[in-house]
Amino acid sequence: MSVHRSVRSASSVQFPAFVRALPSLRFVASWAMTLPCVLSVSCQREPAFSVAVTRSAIAVSREVNPANLSQHVRELVAQREKETPQTSLYWGNMKLRRVNAGQYIDSYLSAQGLTVVHEREDQQGVDTDNLYVDLPARSGSAHAAEYVLVSGHYDNWHVGADDNASAVSVMLEAARILRTRSFLRTIRIIAFDREEEGLVGSERYARLHQTESVAALLNMDCVGYASHQPNSQSAPPGLALRSVGDFLAILASDVGTPAMSKVIRLSAELPSPISILGLIAPGTGHSPAAAAFLRSDHAAFWQQGVPALFLTDTADFRNPHYHRSSDVPDTLDYDFLQRSAQLVVAATAALAEEE
Ligand SMILES: [Zn+2]
Repeated sequence: MSVHRSVRSASSVQFPAFVRALPSLRFVASWAMTLPCVLSVSCQREPAFSVAVTRSAIAVSREVNPANLSQHVRELVAQREKETPQTSLYWGNMKLRRVNAGQYIDSYLSAQGLTVVHEREDQQGVDTDNLYVDLPARSGSAHAAEYVLVSGHYDNWHVGADDNASAVSVMLEAARILRTRSFLRTIRIIAFDREEEGLVGSERYARLHQTESVAALLNMDCVGYASHQPNSQSAPPGLALRSVGDFLAILASDVGTPAMSKVIRLSAELPSPISILGLIAPGTGHSPAAAAFLRSDHAAFWQQGVPALFLTDTADFRNPHYHRSSDVPDTLDYDFLQRSAQLVVAATAALAEEE
């Protein structure tokens, strides 16, 4: 079932700053000013989820089916291959694909018995269609009006297996698993449109929904590529990451640091834990020094002070196929994708249930 909402846009609304998607313009010049810090996983003072919440989150994560993840990635790519690419208004040579992926997401979620909301907006000649489903909180919950958001963009360069069918596959699997349960908070799973053109869809969503209470956001962008080779990982200038690209990075602004600490501790408890690197962008994360951390749909939420976590395989700092026609399903590491999905499902369940 689908619900369509059209949003009348005010002419005074600023168009999103698409320059944010251009790391070379923003952070190379300014990165060295104030370096973000790397969170120590071993610090015992970090907050953690309660034992009961941790236990039930681990049980939920076991329901991730790796066959579903790879099928979603391959099907999304196959659908995109049938789509006529559109030239972007802003990126002359960009071949944007978004329509078929949106239809695939709608079909799958509808088949799960969920009501898919299409939030459409058209301003300055740029139309967006953000899709979301709500998984209602337990009846009578005092926290039912609070949301835990799980997100990723569905528009793509070329066919986009890692960027961003990997994240969409996790969102669809999370919806399948979590819809059979109910938690203290409402879970909303959102597929954002036109991220590649400057975070357009998520900025519009964040503006329209800014009065809602968001307990946490988990935003994914590229969560399926890993390498175990030496020197397979690079980093923004001035920031030392690990040299082997086999970890999932989790980024938070200051307000999201407690949630990130809990998620990192939870990750270590999972049956097949994924290697994690936590990074903190000081303040709201919008300092020039942290601009490399603003390249996805969590940016507008950081600006609003929402505890938003950004989960990524670091994209072009690791994946040589990033934004190329070679970003195809066979280049992904499906064990890594499965572990990413298990973490996201467990973290969503825990964030939605923790008092
Ligand atoms: Zn992306």
